[in-house]
Amino acid sequence: MSSFRDIFVNAAADVADEFYPKGDKRRGEFLRDQAMIYVKLLEHLSKEGIGGIGAEMAGQDNRATQNVMFVIEQDVDKYVEPGDDWTHRRRVEEPIADRLCDDCKVLFDNDKELPEDCSWCDDYAFDHFKVEKEFVLGPGLFFTEKAARDHIASNDYHYNNPSVYGVGAWRNYELQATQRLLIELSGNDLPSHYK
Ligand SMILES: [Zn+2]
Repeated sequence: MSSFRDIFVNAAADVADEFYPKGDKRRGEFLRDQAMIYVKLLEHLSKEGIGGIGAEMAGQDNRATQNVMFVIEQDVDKYVEPGDDWTHRRRVEEPIADRLCDDCKVLFDNDKELPEDCSWCDDYAFDHFKVEKEFVLGPGLFFTEKAARDHIASNDYHYNNPSVYGVGAWRNYELQATQRLLIELSGNDLPSHYK
C-alpha cells in the first residue's frame, strides 16, 4: 500500500515530469516547494487535530494488540441464582411471606421494614447478583487510549467504575484503513501493529 507521503511525492514528481523535464533548473526548485507544502500540510493537520490523533496513536502502548482500538467498560450487576457464585444480594422488591423467617414474617405482617440481609430467611427472599464488566457501546470506539480516558474524566458520573479496554480491529478493514491513514497524516512512521 502506498503511504500518504508516497502519493504526495509521486504526484509532485508526475507534475514535475510534465512541466519541468530533467535538466530544467526550475525542476529542483519546484520539488523543493512541494516538499515545503507537504511539511506545511502536516503542520496544518496537526493543528486541526487529525494529525494529532495519528501522532498519539503512533506513540501509545498498543497493549500487545494488533490494530488496537479502545472501548469503555464498566461494572454491571448480573442477576444469578442463589446457588451460583454471587457477590451481593438485595431483598426482592415484593417479599413473599412464605420465604421469610419467623422474625422477618412478623415485621412483614406489621408493615415494618425488613433487615437488609438475614441468614434465616429463604435464599429466594433475595435477588442475587454478581458484578461483571460490560462494554459501554454508547460512545463507540476510540482510536487512542488518551481520548478514552478523557471521555471517562468528563463523563464519569454516567458510569459505574469505568475503565479502558483495548480491542483489536480484527478483520475490520474500514477501521484498519482509517488507522493507517490517521498515522500517515501525522507524518509518523506506521508501527508494525497497525500494518
Ligand atoms: Zn429473616
